Amino acid sequence: MGKFTLSVLLVEDDRLSLFVYAEFIKSIVTEVFTAANGREGVKMFKEKKPDIIITDIMMPEMDGLEMIRKIKELDPYVKVIMISGHSEAEYFIRSIDLGVEGYLLKPVDNKRLELKITELGRHILLQQKVLETEKKFQDFAALLPQIVFEADPDGKLTFVNKLALKKFSYTKKDIDKGLYLHDVIDEGHEKDQNDIRNIVHSGTSYQEQEVICKTKKGTRFPALIYTSGIVENGQPAGIRGVMVDITSRKKMLEELKNLNLELEEKVRDRTILLSNEIKEKEKAEKALIKAKEKAEESDQLKGAFLANVSHEIQTPIKAIISFSNLLQSDKQDEKRRKELISVIEGNSNALLNLTNDILEFTRLQSEKVKLYTIRFELNLFLLELFPVFESLRRKQSEKTIKLRLSLGNKDKPLMINSDPSRLRQIFTNLISNAFKFTHEGFVEYGCSLTESNNVLFFVKDTGLGISREYQRKIFKRFFQEPKPLSTKKEGTGLGLPITQSLITLLGGKIWVESKIGKGSTFYFELPEKVIRSEEDDLDKKYMWKEKQVLIIEDDIRDYINLGEILKDRVKLHYVDSPEQALEFCDTNKEIDLCLFRWLPESKLDIIHSIRKINPSQSVLALLDRGLKERNKNLLKEHFDGTISKPFKKEKILQILSTYLD
Ligand code: ADP
Repeated sequence: MGKFTLSVLLVEDDRLSLFVYAEFIKSIVTEVFTAANGREGVKMFKEKKPDIIITDIMMPEMDGLEMIRKIKELDPYVKVIMISGHSEAEYFIRSIDLGVEGYLLKPVDNKRLELKITELGRHILLQQKVLETEKKFQDFAALLPQIVFEADPDGKLTFVNKLALKKFSYTKKDIDKGLYLHDVIDEGHEKDQNDIRNIVHSGTSYQEQEVICKTKKGTRFPALIYTSGIVENGQPAGIRGVMVDITSRKKMLEELKNLNLELEEKVRDRTILLSNEIKEKEKAEKALIKAKEKAEESDQLKGAFLANVSHEIQTPIKAIISFSNLLQSDKQDEKRRKELISVIEGNSNALLNLTNDILEFTRLQSEKVKLYTIRFELNLFLLELFPVFESLRRKQSEKTIKLRLSLGNKDKPLMINSDPSRLRQIFTNLISNAFKFTHEGFVEYGCSLTESNNVLFFVKDTGLGISREYQRKIFKRFFQEPKPLSTKKEGTGLGLPITQSLITLLGGKIWVESKIGKGSTFYFELPEKVIRSEEDDLDKKYMWKEKQVLIIEDDIRDYINLGEILKDRVKLHYVDSPEQALEFCDTNKEIDLCLFRWLPESKLDIIHSIRKINPSQSVLALLDRGLKERNKNLLKEHFDGTISKPFKKEKILQILSTYLD
């Protein structure tokens, strides 16, 4: 076995012993220093810093015990072996008190001395290794670009690297004085603190916990903490760990998040823009297709118009011109002249009818046609038309054709609200067509009642019929189905479109059922319900011819609705604003009842002024749907009653009877 790389200080006042021991010790360690007494021993220790001291106890000037006490003050960890000629317990105990590692009795047994030196040598070398390792660890820790620390089970920091001192703005002195982990982790984060305390206490390893660190100056930064437990003698002895400052990582993440948000926003904007562009494009395309279709239809119509109308215009004009020329010649006798005049008259009428048709159709299309709705008796109306259509039959068709009338519910009179002159026009068009396209059999017109109490009108013939393909087309302008050559080709293709427009205007609809060679039936239905006579009797109950009612209503359509119900029952007046109402009541103090259109923004003081003029008159509020419930108290305070939309006749008359009877 080789020598220990160690130094030994040997202190002995006996020169011979000193020499002998020194020689022997030299064979065990690499360096041996000697001193003859305690004082010299202390001096030598200061100079040479030996690893082991071997000393005699009894020496002149300063004994071995005194010397060791002094040296231990300089280095408490130095290893000491006492050699003594005394075996008294007192020396031994005093040596133990000084913390010496060995006590050998003189004469020293070389074997035991060697054993003791070897034992201490091993210990010292182990300690040196530990110190070296520790230094290595500290050097690495100093090199690491992160905070490195060690803490005891109470969380007290026992080691931090340089970067930690710099990051937390603490000095080595602060650490030595006592600094705890919870001093450098934000106390605002209770959970973090508890977590850390638990980790330190249990000495567990911990992977990545985010904490907020706090420096001596009070500034804060986010960090990730990684720990690993220290175990000594099987017991948790604290933790060591690393903290990674994630300020810049967080900043980058934040920037990334903002960038992402910006990007998402941009994508969203762009998508909206694109979808709007697509929608606009689709809209434009649709409008273009519609315009194209319209242009094509106009083109078709123009062609049809030119084919039909120009022929229809030219024929009578040519006839009128040529017959007028004939009339001018002197050679014609009176009878012939009368014939010519009748032809001119007939063609002029045809021309007039055509122009009327065109004008009527244009008017209907521009929706400028007014309706004059009245209540009339249905069967009577149809009966009155019979002689008119009879004369049409005589003029228009062969003698064999019969005209028939079919009345719905003959026993009791049926009343209906509609525009009779428009209804008559519809029947005339349909019956005139029926005569035109029927060569044998009959033409029948009339009405029947539907299950929902509406009237179903019809015009039926046993004529040529209309093919399936044309049944829908004939309601379009200028459409005429090609008919056999033998049929007189009269007309412009405007009759049915005019008829359809009129029925639409009355709120109804028209359709046709037909079979080629068997005949056609045109049906049309109106929205108005038929009023049977008993209901009419009931209706007559509500009459207050002497009473005056003023309607204050700014929506003309509502006024017309109300007017329809009230016009033959009371003396009706109308103004369209509360201010006008006040003026009106001032000059006409006889008003019995005011129907005041009330909106949440209406001025209520005017109602009081109106009441002051004639305290006996009642004022009712006309209300939109839903307003009554929401304004119950206010309405009760200012009005005698209310009438809510929809304005149903039965309901209105009943309410009015309370105030007018
Ligand atoms: P016009 O009779 O002036 O041609 P209409 O619009 O009244 O124009 O009718 C369009 C077309 O519908 C007619 O040309 C005819 O082909 C067909 N039509 C109308 N009514 C009848 C009917 N009762 N029987 C057979 N065809 C009819």
